[in-house]
Amino acid sequence: GPQAGAIPPALAPLPEVRDLRQLGCTPLRILVTGGAGFVGSHLIDRLLLAGHHVLCIDDLSTGRRRNLAHWRGHPNFAVRRHNVAKPLRGVGKCDLVFHLACPASPPHYQGNAIRTVKTAVLGTMHMLGVAKRSGARFLLASTSEVYGDPEVHPQPETYHGSVNPIGPRACYDEGKRISETLAYAYARQHGVDVRVARVFNTYGPRMAHDDGRVVSNFCVQALSGRPLTVYGDGTQTRSFQYIHDLITGLIDLMATPSDHEADGLPALPPINIGNPDEYQIGDFSKIILSTVSMLNMDRSPHLRDNVGVVYLPSPVDDPKQRRPDIQRAHDLLGWTPQFGLRQGLLETVHYFSQYFNYGRYDTPP
Ligand code: NAD
Ligand code: UDP
Repeated sequence: GPQAGAIPPALAPLPEVRDLRQLGCTPLRILVTGGAGFVGSHLIDRLLLAGHHVLCIDDLSTGRRRNLAHWRGHPNFAVRRHNVAKPLRGVGKCDLVFHLACPASPPHYQGNAIRTVKTAVLGTMHMLGVAKRSGARFLLASTSEVYGDPEVHPQPETYHGSVNPIGPRACYDEGKRISETLAYAYARQHGVDVRVARVFNTYGPRMAHDDGRVVSNFCVQALSGRPLTVYGDGTQTRSFQYIHDLITGLIDLMATPSDHEADGLPALPPINIGNPDEYQIGDFSKIILSTVSMLNMDRSPHLRDNVGVVYLPSPVDDPKQRRPDIQRAHDLLGWTPQFGLRQGLLETVHYFSQYFNYGRYDTPP
């Protein structure tokens, strides 16, 4: 078997989540864009398990059918292959829209910057239009990248950010900023009940192995005995959140009634969803190495040798530090992260090691 000799990762129960049924009749009709991706597929799991009906809209540009294969044929589930930058017709009435469709890893969103901008601007506009016509509540998966390379640390939602509008990351950062602008414009002009989650770095099973983000790169490199590629001097920081905590936060945000009096905003204010547990990337590479060698002690002798790290040039505009201030999520949603890095990494390395065992990582991503 593929797992002979591996220590099985400890499975924690999923965190408590607010009950979406308080929003109306059961089951709810929920539209999830980007549902074939890493985050979207975990969200769909939780929504279908709660008994709701889900229509997934995805063009499979960075997502994979495999992430949802276990729901194929389920009566409450349907997928439509569609680019959200084009108008979406004939989806019928829905109660909630989770709008996640957008490439999220720097190599992907920079690979076709114009397409990324179209996805962010036209895609978000079209999905807000769907929510408006349906009278549906709308949640945008925004990002900590709206803070750019921040001068304020940690980052509260009141910080307006420091983004280079013409750099290589701008298509994504500015794309998400205008997505947020559109969401509140639809709230003010058309009364759409919008929510904005500013999602900080998230990792877990179903990240694509060749996605290019730091957790998947480091896991695959360590598992295949290659040096870990640290960009820059490794002193830049990120704060890592486990996928199940993010999903709980997104559902809690969707389920929380908006207080229209607050902040003079027409809807709930944007809310950071992330884990404040912050690491320098250089230190983080050592944590991944030790997790991988621990899980593989008995069966992959070469992993016991320190495969080490290799330092590569820092990407342009790479933010130096990033850590969420999550006071607002705590106060408005009662949400705090429940998973520590150790547990999350055990499950994530275990996921990647399954593919390693079948020899799929022979060629570097
Ligand atoms: P992902 O690349 O795994 O998933 C994105 C999904 O959107 C994919 O299934 C892709 O095929 C789909 N998609 C992309 N462009 C599309 C288009 N034009 N039309 C239809 N579908 C399209 O990335 P992810 O990590 O799951 O990210 C999901 C969302 O969360 C994104 O909006 C991202 O910006 C946001 N986010 C993620 C993180 C993170 O750390 N994972 C952090 C901040 C924000
Ligand atoms: N990074 C790295 N090696 C890699 C991939 C990323 O050192 O193989 C660094 C990257 O320069 C950044 C951090 O890890 O400082 C997080 O990068 P990622 O692409 O995962 O996310 P983002 O930059 O969007 O936070």
